[in-house]
Order: sequence, then structure tokens, then C-alpha cells
Amino acid sequence: MKVTALTEQAGQPVLRFRDGHTALADLVVFADGRSSTGRRLLDPDRTLRYAGYVAHRGIADITPQPGLRDFLRLQPCPGVQFNLAPVPGGCDWTFYLNCTSSEYTQRFGADPTRRVFALPRHVSPAARAHVDTHADLLLPVAHAAIVHATTTRMAVPVLDITAPQRMVWPIGTGHAVLLGDALAPVRPHTARGANNGIEQAAGLAAALTQHRKYAADLTAALHGWQRRHLPAAVAAVHRGPVIGNQLGLGTHQPAQ
Ligand SMILES: Cc1cc2nc3c(=O)[nH]c(=O)nc-3n(C[C@H](O)[C@H](O)[C@H](O)COP(=O)(O)OP(=O)(O)OC[C@H]3O[C@@H](n4cnc5c(N)ncnc54)[C@H](O)[C@@H]3O)c2cc1C
Repeated sequence: MKVTALTEQAGQPVLRFRDGHTALADLVVFADGRSSTGRRLLDPDRTLRYAGYVAHRGIADITPQPGLRDFLRLQPCPGVQFNLAPVPGGCDWTFYLNCTSSEYTQRFGADPTRRVFALPRHVSPAARAHVDTHADLLLPVAHAAIVHATTTRMAVPVLDITAPQRMVWPIGTGHAVLLGDALAPVRPHTARGANNGIEQAAGLAAALTQHRKYAADLTAALHGWQRRHLPAAVAAVHRGPVIGNQLGLGTHQPAQ
């Protein structure tokens, strides 16, 4: 059920859901992804910024070149990266191409900071033709053929955000926290998005165990958790635009 609001009642956090019902909590954990409602409520100045390129994605049910047992990456020229990985029954590819915000809107039906995942139903024939044409121009014939043969396509606009300064907020005598992409979506080239979220979640579980099992003060445990995990999130936010710039992808802006 979608969360729509967070308020305080008699000193305790209260979550409101789309169907109107509410729930009292001691601790609210927002792990609600790139378009996080939690971030909008707790840290509203940190809005998403489009980085100027798109990860086009597909899974083809054809076996890639014989002998491809591992991940393959091609960077045929600045502004282009193609990744291919064998998966059971076929292969998974990601093709990064530059794209203006208005081109994204034309191809996928909404602004990139609003349509943060383009599902198969959002991929227009023009978007498909754009990817096929660039595959023909830029990739070896066998890899272009994989792209052409992929019926189900998706796309993800690459987004930046100002680095977070905190992960924990007091709500009355309770708390709310952000983690994973809700805290800070990072560029895919950093390979840190899921890793950061998993490490933060495991660290939070350990902090809550300290509180529940060993009676550690919850506020102190949460601030210790923030101290341990915030630096990695900030570093990944800063690293993304640097890597993108090295690859000629997007409109380079140093992360704030
Ligand atoms: C092309 C690409 C390649 C990547 N490669 C890597 C990599 O190599 N290594 C790596 O570590 N990371 C990588 N990532 C990043 C990684 O995929 C993400 O960082 C990760 O999936 C984020 O997980 P999350 O749980 O924080 O958010 P999500 O997976 O987005 O989950 C958020 C959940 O919250 C739910 N939700 C949203 N809003 C609400 C609401 N209001 N109420 C209730 N529920 C809500 C959603 O339905 C969803 O289930 C890559 C990303 C891309 C696009």
C-alpha cells in the first residue's frame, strides 16, 4: 500500500496510506526508491536532476557469441557504452546513449525526473528505432543483432541528486530514516546503488538489534548507523558524474 504522508501525533510518527488508513510507529524506514515519498517529505530540497543520458535495457532469448561466459563491455566511442551479460536462456544488455530531456519525453512519454523507469509499455516505436539505429552504427554485427532481436525493451534515465547530509530525522520522540535509492540514487557505473542499500539495511538491522537486545539508546544507535554509512553514499553520489564525464556520457555537472 502506497504511503502518502508522514505526520506526528502525540509525539509519535504516523504514516498515512493511499486508502486513508493510518499507522503509528516508533521508527519509519523509507526504502521507497528513486522517486521516494520519504525523501520528498523529509528532505524536500534534494530533488532529482536528469544527467543527460539513458540506460536502454533488454533481455534477448538468444545465446550471445559462443564462449561468452561473463560480462562484456564495449565503449566504441565517447558517449556510448554497451554491456552484455549471459543470463539463463539468453542475454541481458544495457546500452547507454546520450539523450536530451525533451528527446526522452518524446520517446518515453514523460519527463525523465517523472518517468524514472520506462517500462516496456512506455517504449515508443521511435525509442526502439533510435536504439536499433545506434546499434547498427556503433556495435559489432553480432551485438547489433542481439539488440534487434530483443522484443521487450525498457529504459532508465540516469539521474543525479545533491549528496545527502543525513539519514535520520527525529519525528516527535520517534524517528524516520532514508536508505537505498530513497536516500541517494547513484549512477549505475558506480555499481554502488544496490550495494549501498544492502549495506545500509544490514547496518540498520544491527543497530536495531543493539537497541532491542542490549537496550542501547535508539537515538544513539541510529546516529552511529548514520555515521558509518553516510560517507559511502556521499562518495558514490560524487563519483558518478566523474565516471560519466570520462565516458563522454551526459552533461557533466559536479555533484553538489
Ligand atoms: C542500468 C542499471 C545498472 C545498475 N547496476 C548496479 C550495479 O552493478 N550494482 C549496484 O549495486 N547497483 C546497480 N544499480 C542500482 C540498483 O539497481 C538500485 O540502486 C537498487 O535497485 C535500489 O534499490 P532500492 O531498494 O533502494 O529501491 P527500489 O528497488 O526502487 O525499491 C523501492 C520499492 O519501494 C516501493 N515504493 C515506492 N514508493 C512507495 C510508496 N510511496 N509507498 C510504498 N512503497 C513504495 C517500490 O514499489 C519498490 O518496491 C543499477 C541500476 C541501473 C538502472
